[in-house]
Amino acid sequence: MNDKKRLLTGDRPTGKLHLGHYVGSLTNRVQLQDEYECYFLIADLHMLTTKPDKDAIFALRTNTYEMVLDYLAAGIDPAKSTIFLQSSVHAVYEMNLFFEMLVTLPRLSRLPSIKEMARAAHLDDEALPFGLVGYPVLQAADILMPRAHLVPVGKDNESHVEISREISRRFNRMYDEVFPIPDVLIGDVPSLVGTDGQSKMSKSLDNAIFLSDDAKTVANKVRRMYTDPKRVRADIPGTVEGNPVFIYHDVFNPNRSEVEDLKERYRQGRVGDVEVKEKLTTALNQFLDPLRDRRAHFQSQSGMVEEAIYDGTKRANEIGDETLMMMKKAMGLTGVWNRVSRKARARKKTRALD
Ligand code: ATP
Ligand code: MG
Repeated sequence: MNDKKRLLTGDRPTGKLHLGHYVGSLTNRVQLQDEYECYFLIADLHMLTTKPDKDAIFALRTNTYEMVLDYLAAGIDPAKSTIFLQSSVHAVYEMNLFFEMLVTLPRLSRLPSIKEMARAAHLDDEALPFGLVGYPVLQAADILMPRAHLVPVGKDNESHVEISREISRRFNRMYDEVFPIPDVLIGDVPSLVGTDGQSKMSKSLDNAIFLSDDAKTVANKVRRMYTDPKRVRADIPGTVEGNPVFIYHDVFNPNRSEVEDLKERYRQGRVGDVEVKEKLTTALNQFLDPLRDRRAHFQSQSGMVEEAIYDGTKRANEIGDETLMMMKKAMGLTGVWNRVSRKARARKKTRALD
């Protein structure tokens, strides 16, 4: 064990990762890999909160593989960082239960993010699963399992990390100092808008450009992107602010003078959407090219992704067991079991002697 601080974050294995994940959390993860002891969670239990059906569970095999390949393509190094499968770390389930006692139902029910997730999964109030309301509690179990200090996430997850902080404080106050109070780290782009220009880019909303999309797919998606709807002709002055095409230019096009020139001409009605979008396609493909190369490289190494998850999950279980023991000790629960077993063993021994 080293003395580095720990970092945890993760994603639901519901599909491939997209540009939103990259700017919201992946870049921070890659940058902090040396400074922190990193834990990256494949949140399959979190997937069950909205998709508990067998088809979704079956799709986990492919989705998990693709997602971890995305991690590696983005620059996460399994030799430095622990990538693990949530459902195979039993400490997470146990901690989840203990933490359920440390937060109130009204506190969770008021979170807008849970309502949004329910809406996205087409679940009304009557159909709201108990587990979905408890989403942030399970997240607290993930974060506090390796006793993490830092959690790099997108904006939509900020309120959940706040719940983890409250649970951590409550536990430490009620029992003993076991957990750090984890800090949230929001990416440079807290919430990247989707290609529809309406909601945040999301795997489930058909508005995403995936890190693994090929050059042609990117070109097609950009061509269909939402821009200023008032602009039916190239000579009509357009709005740059809040326009997703320019938001992407700002984030992904390193050629600043080209971007400023396009903005200027767009405002004056001196450039067509086609040119703006073609330049964006070029910038995005240049940005994605090294990721594609790395993806292909790791894909060609059979069993590498699986080995990374296998080793990582073993490591996660080790620290999870350690944390669980610390928790139970702090709560006094180990004392109960120790007394029971001592007495029981003594009785068995006496009986054997009789
Ligand atoms: P789903 O549709 O299954 O909820 P998602 O695309 O919203 O998928 P999550 O697995 O919920 O992705 O999110 C993983 C991480 O990526 C979280 O930290 C989240 O805040 C961040 N993230 C997701 N989408 C974006 C986005 N568009 N911009 C910035 N960060 C994002
Ligand atoms: Mg989400």
